[in-house]
Amino acid sequence: MLQQYDLGTSTADGLMVWLEISERDPVSFEPSSMEILSKAREIYDGRIFGVVFGDTELKPLYKEAFSYGADTLYHVKDKRLIDFHPEAYCESLRSIAERINPSIILMSATLRGREVAPRLAASLGAGLTADCTELSMDGSVLQMTRPAFGGDLMATITSESMPQMATVRPGTFPPNKISDDATGTVIYWQYKGDSFKTIISSKRKYHDEKDITEADILISLGNGIKSKDTIRLAESVAKKLGGMVSCSRALVEKGWFPQSRQVGQSGRNVSPEIYLAFGISGSVQHKAGIMTARRVIAVNSDPDAPIREIADELIVGDAENILRELDKIL
Ligand SMILES: Cc1cc2nc3c(=O)[nH]c(=O)nc-3n(C[C@H](O)[C@H](O)[C@H](O)COP(=O)(O)OP(=O)(O)OC[C@H]3O[C@@H](n4cnc5c(N)ncnc54)[C@H](O)[C@@H]3O)c2cc1C
Repeated sequence: MLQQYDLGTSTADGLMVWLEISERDPVSFEPSSMEILSKAREIYDGRIFGVVFGDTELKPLYKEAFSYGADTLYHVKDKRLIDFHPEAYCESLRSIAERINPSIILMSATLRGREVAPRLAASLGAGLTADCTELSMDGSVLQMTRPAFGGDLMATITSESMPQMATVRPGTFPPNKISDDATGTVIYWQYKGDSFKTIISSKRKYHDEKDITEADILISLGNGIKSKDTIRLAESVAKKLGGMVSCSRALVEKGWFPQSRQVGQSGRNVSPEIYLAFGISGSVQHKAGIMTARRVIAVNSDPDAPIREIADELIVGDAENILRELDKIL
């Protein structure tokens, strides 16, 4: 266990981020890891340590990690760790944390992050604030903000244990490179444990489909659309605009979309240039996912729909008719 938290006496210093490798080809970071690095650089003055798992295929990614703000990269170099082994990842992160004694550890609230973070927190005797949507520093104290009570209020939480640990919801912070030429130090780390799962079979979750958090334009559909055929219309409009189709939770519950397309508190946080919401009322939970969208345009038959509170423009009309017109015009 790291030294107990005491603001006055703790020697912990530095911020550590697990930089997740995407399951997609070619080898790349999960965009959410670069988002966290960018935010870390914005709020934290000290050293930032990245940790990556894999083999020599990761070398071309070093530069990217430095350009988004990492000073030092710990590369846990082992070809068995190209696959996700949560226990082995956790043990490695713990041993690296024991070496560098960071005051803050951050990771993405991805499926893998949600599995590793609580294990790591427990093994370090630290607290964990999960699913944060804002981070800031008050001196050396990390202020971790996340939705609470079903999204009705935002709670800002501080940690009573060291290191201060949080997971961050993907799509929350914009990724910002500090420089294309940034350099840093790479340290190879060896995993000495033996906590490997036996993988009997595996199936790629991602094919060529982009994640909705990466789209610049989102056509988002809600319960106001009456027919499943409208999805095809929306796909056609999205394709013509170079965007993607996302949805509210209502349509995931109907079985019309996979959960990966859901925007909102229990779905994805998105930051597109334009978010076009068709037939979405604008519940607190949905709005929580589009707070960082550059421009929100809503189409709703109800001029008083709550989404107008966040929309830059509200077009009062029928979602399907307007999509059809848009498709024709484009
Ligand atoms: C813990 C928790 C987490 C949640 N997480 C999420 C989340 O991540 N994402 C999410 O979306 N929801 C989430 N929800 C659900 C959320 O509370 C709402 O139920 C949901 O967002 C409603 O979806 P909607 O706006 O599509 O549907 P509705 O609320 O039914 O709204 C439909 C809208 O369509 C309009 N409309 C009707 N007909 C037309 C038409 N012909 N043309 C145009 N507009 C029309 C209506 O005026 C209305 O505004 C969560 C709820 C809880 C309790």
